[in-house]
Amino acid sequence: MYQLRCIDCGASFQDDNLYNCTECGGLLEILFDVSLADFKLDGSNISVWKYRSLLPVRIKPVTLFEGGTPIYPFKVEGKGRVYIKHEGMNPSGSFKDRGMTVGVTKAVELGKRSVACASTGNTSASMSMYSARAGLNAYVLLPAGKVALGKLAQAVMHGAKVIAIKDNFDVALRLVRELSEKKGMYLLNSVNPFRLEGQKTIAFEIVDQLGFVPDAVFVPVGNAGNISAIYKGFLELKEAGYTDEIPKMIGVQAEGANPIYKAYVEGKEDIEPLKNPETIATAIRIGMPVNAKKALKAIYASKGKVIQVRDDEIVQAQKLLARQGIGVEPASASSLAGLLKDDSEFENSVCIATGNLLKDPEEVVRVIGKPIEVEADIREIEKVL
Ligand SMILES: [Zn+2]
Repeated sequence: MYQLRCIDCGASFQDDNLYNCTECGGLLEILFDVSLADFKLDGSNISVWKYRSLLPVRIKPVTLFEGGTPIYPFKVEGKGRVYIKHEGMNPSGSFKDRGMTVGVTKAVELGKRSVACASTGNTSASMSMYSARAGLNAYVLLPAGKVALGKLAQAVMHGAKVIAIKDNFDVALRLVRELSEKKGMYLLNSVNPFRLEGQKTIAFEIVDQLGFVPDAVFVPVGNAGNISAIYKGFLELKEAGYTDEIPKMIGVQAEGANPIYKAYVEGKEDIEPLKNPETIATAIRIGMPVNAKKALKAIYASKGKVIQVRDDEIVQAQKLLARQGIGVEPASASSLAGLLKDDSEFENSVCIATGNLLKDPEEVVRVIGKPIEVEADIREIEKVL
C-alpha cells in the first residue's frame, strides 16, 4: 500500500522504523498507491480520517477528532477571493494534530512505549495530548523562555515530561534526536515522515470544502514540514485523478528567521543555517529547518515563491484577522501578511492559519495592552466608553 523513499538518492524501504535513508542519510517520504484512494470530495464528513485510504497506518487510529477545520471567506481589497483555513480549530489548537494523530498511531503500531519531540511549543502541546490519549510516556525538549504560555500549559497539563534547555529550537532538535535514539523513544518531530502524511490532509480538505483547487496557498514556514506536506496532498489528488491543477505553494517567513527565503532568492535547493533566529512569531522561529529541501522542491515544482514579512506586518495581519472574527497566534498571521505583501494577482487564494489566538496570550497583551481599569461606577465607565 505504501513504501518509504529517500528524497535524495531514491532508495526505497519497507521499514516503518526509519526516519532517514540508511544509504545516504536523506529525508524519507512516503509513496502511496494512489489508486487505492476511496473517498469522495463531496464536502461531507470532513476530518483527517475520512482520507484514511491515503494514510499509512494499519491499526485503529488514536484520534481526538482532528481536522474538519473551518475555511472562512476573508474580505480584503484587490486580492480576489481569499479564504482562511483555520487550523487553530483543531483539538490542541494547531495544525500539528493532523500529523500527531498519525504519528502517535504509528508509535502504538510499532509497539513503542514512549515518544519524544523538540518543539517551539505547538508540537509539544499536540504530542502531549495524543500520547496521553494513547497511554504513552511523552518527553519534550523546549528552548527555555521562548515558548508561548498557552502551549507550555498544554504540554505540562497533559502529562509530558517537559525539559527546557538553555539554547534555541535547532539545538533542542539535535539533542532530542540523539536522546530518542539512545533511549528507544519514538521521535515525533517533522523529520518523522508519518507525521507529514497527516498534515497533507489540509490539501484534501481545501478541495473538499471549496469544491475547486485554489490558485495559490500561502503557508507560514518554520521547520518547513507543513508546506511540503500540503504540496504532497495536492500532488496525490492530481495523481489519483481528483483534480487537474496544483496550486502555487507560497511560503511565508519572518524576516528574522528566513533561511528558506534566502535560499529561494538565490535559487538554491538547500539552505544555509541561520544561527540566531528572532521573531515575534515564535512558532516559526527556526534557523535550521529540517524539511527545507522538501519545502524548496514543493515551492519550485508548483511555481510558487517565498515571501518574507516583518514582525509589524505579522501583527497587523493578526489584527485584521481578529477584526473579522478569526483569532490566531502571530505565526499564523504571517500567511495573510505574505498575501498582502505579494504583488501576484490570484483569482482565489487560501491562507493557512496554523494556530489559535489562545496559544500566545502574552503576545496579545504586548501588542494590544491591558484593558482600561476604572472605579465600579457607571459615570466612570461612561467617561471611558
Ligand atoms: Zn538516500
